[in-house]
Amino acid sequence: MQSRSLQISSLLEHAALHHPSVEIVSHVNAQTCVRSTWQDVARRARRLASGLQARGLEPGTRVATLAWNTHRHLELYFGVSGAGSILHTVNPRLFPDQIRYILTHAGDEYLFFDLAFADLVAELAPSLPHVKAFVALCAPQDMPVLSLPRPLLNYEELLALGDEDYAWPALPEDTASSLCYTSGTTGNPKGVLYSHRSTVLHSWTACATDGLGLGARDSVLLAVPMFHVNAWGVPYAAAMCGAKLVLPGPDLSGERLFAHMKDEGCTLSLGVPTVWLGFFQYLESLPEAARAGLRLNRVVIGGSAAPRAIIEKFERLLGAYVIQAWGMTETSPLATIGNLLPAHETLALAQRFDVQARQGRAIFGVEVAVFDEDGRRLKSGEPGSGELKVRGPWVVSAYYGNEPGSALDAQGWFSTGDVARIDTEGYVQITDRSKDVIKSGGEWISSIDLENLAVGHPAVKEAAVIGVRHEKWQERPLLIVVPKDGATITAQELLAYMKDRVARWWMPDDVVFVDALPHTATGKLLKTRLREQFADHRLPTDALQA
Ligand code: ADP
Repeated sequence: MQSRSLQISSLLEHAALHHPSVEIVSHVNAQTCVRSTWQDVARRARRLASGLQARGLEPGTRVATLAWNTHRHLELYFGVSGAGSILHTVNPRLFPDQIRYILTHAGDEYLFFDLAFADLVAELAPSLPHVKAFVALCAPQDMPVLSLPRPLLNYEELLALGDEDYAWPALPEDTASSLCYTSGTTGNPKGVLYSHRSTVLHSWTACATDGLGLGARDSVLLAVPMFHVNAWGVPYAAAMCGAKLVLPGPDLSGERLFAHMKDEGCTLSLGVPTVWLGFFQYLESLPEAARAGLRLNRVVIGGSAAPRAIIEKFERLLGAYVIQAWGMTETSPLATIGNLLPAHETLALAQRFDVQARQGRAIFGVEVAVFDEDGRRLKSGEPGSGELKVRGPWVVSAYYGNEPGSALDAQGWFSTGDVARIDTEGYVQITDRSKDVIKSGGEWISSIDLENLAVGHPAVKEAAVIGVRHEKWQERPLLIVVPKDGATITAQELLAYMKDRVARWWMPDDVVFVDALPHTATGKLLKTRLREQFADHRLPTDALQA
């Protein structure tokens, strides 16, 4: 057989050749929507690559972006990596100091930014001596006035100088293609460097029927940011299969997402649970007739556990199947995906939701296993939980800058830091991050299970559960709740609702109501902050403290 190198540029050229007129709809901001096609993306990505090379871009150079989901960001995905350089997507929601750390650690030489981040770039620029040029992602007439220590270029002018017939270089498939940093809720962020090979293999998974099932008949609303783990690999996978892409820009409000779904006939969307909480808050405010007319049939939820209530609402209100997926920056990210098995096809909906509320099964390419505290591998279905480990060709080997293999144990496993069990059917169930697990009297209580249960109450918008010090039990669960706008609920009502749905010794010892919960830059609950905030919380059950 031929040993052709797997390359990101070939994904794009395939889309340009076989799906040339499939649309890319880009909402740059509330006023501007740009419609282009895969053929346009390919032309402009070639211009970008050659324009950058004319300005000195070298193979392996890191090119950073601070940008929302737009057509220009998509062109950067292909143009930079296709040219043999490395696209480094930076999360603009991080604190400026973290962004500075990441840009410096990566040694980025170019920084492309959306106008919304112009002030941030001006603030950071003096302390980024390695950046040779800054590039504003806008039309020439919209250029911001900034005083920067090095040249400020315009994206469209850079493209205008480029060659649309540029020929992509032939690259070995292990060439590095893109770089993402974990959000580092503890310690400094760490870089994960992907390769052309890992990216193309991962794309096949997204397109596989029991992967995300992405295909040419899909119109995909990308509600997961392109700065978060390569938007779960969907930009590449969409090129592989020729799907239409709808890029929502900065506005992920329920109202806008619903409008895009309707206007663009979206069949599939992807996002973290918090995005969908906002979506349903809007959707449920609409009269029933106004909810009709969507073509949506699948929604991929990951990044945090998908609450059962959301899975149920998608099914009952919109007839859309929720595919829960689990993964992390270190796994590209797709690792387990929640599709059904033949045995589930006849299940009543309520039981099917239980299956969907798990994090899914391993897909070919990623091995998953759970190890107990003594390092023994648990069999599927064996009681108890332990640390989830993974290995495979799109799983990290070492963090950026470290020795190859240094992130792995002797058997090549990567420790995820998640606590999980695997059931007899092979579904992984994440019960906690190892640092969030609640240890009560020597047993573990899953904060995720309790949160999902609380969010199922109609008056609850969001919930977090943390372990609070308890003299007798070591730790007991404290439930912290944000009620829905306009809803009233008491602690007694909520606990009564939860009582019959969970083991008695798991029941929270106290409930606190707050206006908002802290989140990380990728939308996860920031439990370190909650633990600090409630460090002195006195539980009513703790006789010794009371
Ligand atoms: P961060 O940079 O915020 O750590 P990642 O996206 O890499 O971002 O986070 C990966 C972690 O997110 C996983 O280790 C896991 O704890 C959590 N996670 C991802 N998907 C799910 C899911 N479907 N259910 C529960 N937890 C999830």
